[in-house]
Amino acid sequence: MADTDTAPGAQRFIPPQADTLDELRAAATGCRGCELYRDATQTVFGRGDASARVVFVGEQPGDIEDQKGLPFVGPAGRLLRKAVDDAGLDPAHIYLTNAVKHFRFEVRGKRRIHQTPDRVHITACRPWLVAEFAQLAPEVIVVLGATAAKALLGPTFRVTRQRGELLPWPAAAQRPEDFHQVPVDNTGHAADAPPAQLLATIHPSAVLRADNQDVAYDGLVADLTVVSRALAG
Ligand code: SF4
Repeated sequence: MADTDTAPGAQRFIPPQADTLDELRAAATGCRGCELYRDATQTVFGRGDASARVVFVGEQPGDIEDQKGLPFVGPAGRLLRKAVDDAGLDPAHIYLTNAVKHFRFEVRGKRRIHQTPDRVHITACRPWLVAEFAQLAPEVIVVLGATAAKALLGPTFRVTRQRGELLPWPAAAQRPEDFHQVPVDNTGHAADAPPAQLLATIHPSAVLRADNQDVAYDGLVADLTVVSRALAG
């Protein structure tokens, strides 16, 4: 797989008039914003309802997600669903997406081994994330791991230092203006956006790789419990 230092980016593949997640999802199938589309099977866009109360942002699709075209359907996704359940979050209120929408991997023998996306991929794919957020109005955004944190919060944010902490959204974003929304009420007047929050935690795949999986899992559930309490409050 060829690596590049620059990529044209996803912006020109996003229909400016798109005003639903389905329209964005359809357009993303043809994205050529960076080289990752070449070796991956398909674009894996976010899934869930536009009215979701919680938006989870992960890193990139894995091997199984790449084959099925759906995010979080592999082993890490199964673990995340269990953690969501154990934290008391309603799965019906969740939207799941990734910072990078194509699977980056290297081939070793017959296996496709996950490779962490580079900054060029995160930057190229960010316009899809911004476009998704323009269709969503979550109460809490959950950032799963370092790649998602880089995409939303910038390169200096450290998940290990600030995990489990509720931060103001979009004020905590790297470019808050990208995510600032002015909702319009049913009389056509601009209304104040309800305050939203962001919480960073580890990616569920980090639990699967941990030396002590039980401790890592309990930490993930503890962070997500902060989210469920915020929703209840
Ligand atoms: S990873 Fe993102 S920017 Fe790159 S081709 Fe896929 S959808 Fe487009």
